[in-house]
Amino acid sequence: MSLCPECDAEIELVSPDIGEIVSCPECGLELEVISRDPVEFDIAPERDEEDEEEKEEEDLG
Ligand SMILES: [Zn+2]
Repeated sequence: MSLCPECDAEIELVSPDIGEIVSCPECGLELEVISRDPVEFDIAPERDEEDEEEKEEEDLG
């Protein structure tokens, strides 16, 4: 039994693997299994789409 780091919901996994991504049933956050004994989660990094368009604008004046 493990707890979601975000909402402290109890998450039960049968046989988690390191690096496995699971979704919290409570808050829906994606969690990465970082430890198996005991099972611990870390918040999985959000996948940014490769559609980032950042325009550099400088407001001078
Ligand atoms: Zn949660």
